[in-house]
Amino acid sequence: MLSIIVPCYNEEESIPIFFDAVEKVSAQLQHEVEYIFINDGSRDGTLNALRNLYQACPQKVRYLSFSRNFGKEAGLYAGLKEARGDLITVMDVDLQDPPELLPQMIQLLAEDPELDCIGTRRGDRAGEPPIRSFFARMFYRLVNKIGETEMVDGARDFRLMTRQMVDAILELTEYNRFSKGIFSWVGFNTKYLSYENRERVAGSTSWSFWSLLSYSIDGIVNFSEVPLNFASYIGAFSCMGSVIAMLVIFFKTIIKGDPTNGWPSLVCIILFVGGLQLLCLGIIGKYIGKIFLETKKRPVYLVKETEKDQKL
Ligand code: UDP
Ligand code: MG
Repeated sequence: MLSIIVPCYNEEESIPIFFDAVEKVSAQLQHEVEYIFINDGSRDGTLNALRNLYQACPQKVRYLSFSRNFGKEAGLYAGLKEARGDLITVMDVDLQDPPELLPQMIQLLAEDPELDCIGTRRGDRAGEPPIRSFFARMFYRLVNKIGETEMVDGARDFRLMTRQMVDAILELTEYNRFSKGIFSWVGFNTKYLSYENRERVAGSTSWSFWSLLSYSIDGIVNFSEVPLNFASYIGAFSCMGSVIAMLVIFFKTIIKGDPTNGWPSLVCIILFVGGLQLLCLGIIGKYIGKIFLETKKRPVYLVKETEKDQKL
């Protein structure tokens, strides 16, 4: 059986289009298919669309509806937990993940027993604001340099995984979930397929520039400790610098007898060092915040309704 996990947030228009498109493809597959839709606290008619879909197709469709918006990562986790298939795939509902690739992915996975996962990546970033592409590239360069977990530039969450890999992912029960990192951290052999970028079929993206920025900071903080060492490096550096400066001033005064003047430069130095200290505190604070959330051991998501609450 193939489980298709679909997180949805304000996607009432996309759901029927998505379902039809994937149904067409799944007719060519030998696998039985189950759909697991996750309504991530949508404010529009997404839940109703899912109820209707379930009424129309109760053998195939399942859904979970969260009590509020918990984010796509929580949706993915919930879907992976619910999935019953031997093969599991994760897809966006906006058809930016082309379902036509599914048969090819299944075939690749079946052909090579060494592979555990077929991932997809966009070959290009066409149709995306240039500034966003620029920061995305910077993010991947940075995170691959300072993090121990490799993240592939342009890799989508759209991927086909074996049961074994999904079980491994489910063993990571952390609260701060950054899927791109988790998929890579668990290891296993992944092969990437490239495809041309697509625009979403309906609705609009829920990501703004700032939400992407904070998402990428999460990606770094969750998978790297390098920022924590930043304070030590800067501290050591400015210590050495100030020792040299002290020596210079000392000898200059002895030789030339300079009167000490220049409080503007002093103020600049104080502000600079004060700023660095606050920056480092901020970095430490970010990690403490994460620890705080982890230690509370709150559930990653809360379910309000599932298809089992429906009468046929
Ligand atoms: N999504 C979600 N919860 C959220 C935000 C997004 O479940 O809080 C879903 C959304 O419905 C879509 C997928 O995650 O199926 C990707 O979202 P989107 O298309 O907005 O992101 P983009 O493709 O622009 O990266
Ligand atoms: Mg999208």
